[in-house]
Amino acid sequence: MNRNVTIIGDGLVGSSTAFTLFLSDLVNTIYLIDLNKEKVEGDVLDMMHGVSFVNNKTIKVGEYQDILDSKILIITAGANQKEGETRIDLLNKNIKIFDSILNEVKKYLHDELIVLVVTNPVDLLSYFTYKKLNISSNRVIGSGTVLDSSRLKYLLSLDTKVDAKNIHAYVVGEHGDSEVSVFSLASIGGIKLFDFCKKCNRCARNEKYQKIHNEGKNSAYEIINKKGATFYAIALSCKRIVEAILSDSNSILTISSYINNYIDNNINDIYMSFPAVINYQGVREVLNLNYSIKEKETIIASFSKLNELKNKIKI
Ligand code: NAD
Repeated sequence: MNRNVTIIGDGLVGSSTAFTLFLSDLVNTIYLIDLNKEKVEGDVLDMMHGVSFVNNKTIKVGEYQDILDSKILIITAGANQKEGETRIDLLNKNIKIFDSILNEVKKYLHDELIVLVVTNPVDLLSYFTYKKLNISSNRVIGSGTVLDSSRLKYLLSLDTKVDAKNIHAYVVGEHGDSEVSVFSLASIGGIKLFDFCKKCNRCARNEKYQKIHNEGKNSAYEIINKKGATFYAIALSCKRIVEAILSDSNSILTISSYINNYIDNNINDIYMSFPAVINYQGVREVLNLNYSIKEKETIIASFSKLNELKNKIKI
């Protein structure tokens, strides 16, 4: 089984992802590509100096042709958010960068390859990648709201004082300002979050959920204000997705995937995040959840926002 990964973009997110994958027992060889080849050479040396502490691992300065030897291609290249910028503000810059990268990627496509897009705005760039590469949609994935769902679990774990691993909660829709925290279906240890909260009754619940949602949604802005960029938790999110693919685990993750006929046919021809089953083939299926009426409305609003921008993209 091929367990090699190529990463295009060795900036803060790409190098953190490479290092995180370097620690994963499921990955064999990592090929790292960036316009700044010296930086890649430095990172490769820096990681390989620790090779005696990890299992069966190589990281190499990569070339596009290494895609032929990879199961997964991760794209983290492109501009990141500066203070005050939204993810959507990056669209025009990063479409141009993706256009040139994907022209190269196309030369080395093979039937086994799964493409994982991380660069923002991730939903629109995943859609662009899917259309431009013209491969089956199950093989093009965006990191989507995997990170946002993890942030939500972290915040709920602080509030409920329960291990984040025992909390099931999803953020869906856009990875960005219109994302939706699905509190109505969140559960803790098999108990619906709303029932768990009724038992405890420590706070004004609706206000609390809104506060937690806003905190999760705005946390990237907070981190960017404090240190310029976010990269560790997204790297761990990428590792989780890569491991779900390589271990063929049928894991349910809120990756961004191609969505059609979703929520009573209100959501069509877009990349957005919903819980989806991930395995060695990429996306096996997207799950239709029993969202509340209010959640459905906000998800459809999230779609409308993305769809308007999608319609302006020239492919
Ligand atoms: P960065 O500026 O540190 O790194 C970007 C890298 O891309 C640079 O090293 C640059 O040389 C490289 N690059 C640019 N054009 C290239 C090309 N044509 N070919 C090869 N390499 C190229 O930025 P970062 O902080 O690593 O962020 C990267 C992207 O990831 C941004 O769009 C950011 O918004 C996004 N991001 C996404 C998530 C998520 O949850 N999806 C989270 C954090 C960051």
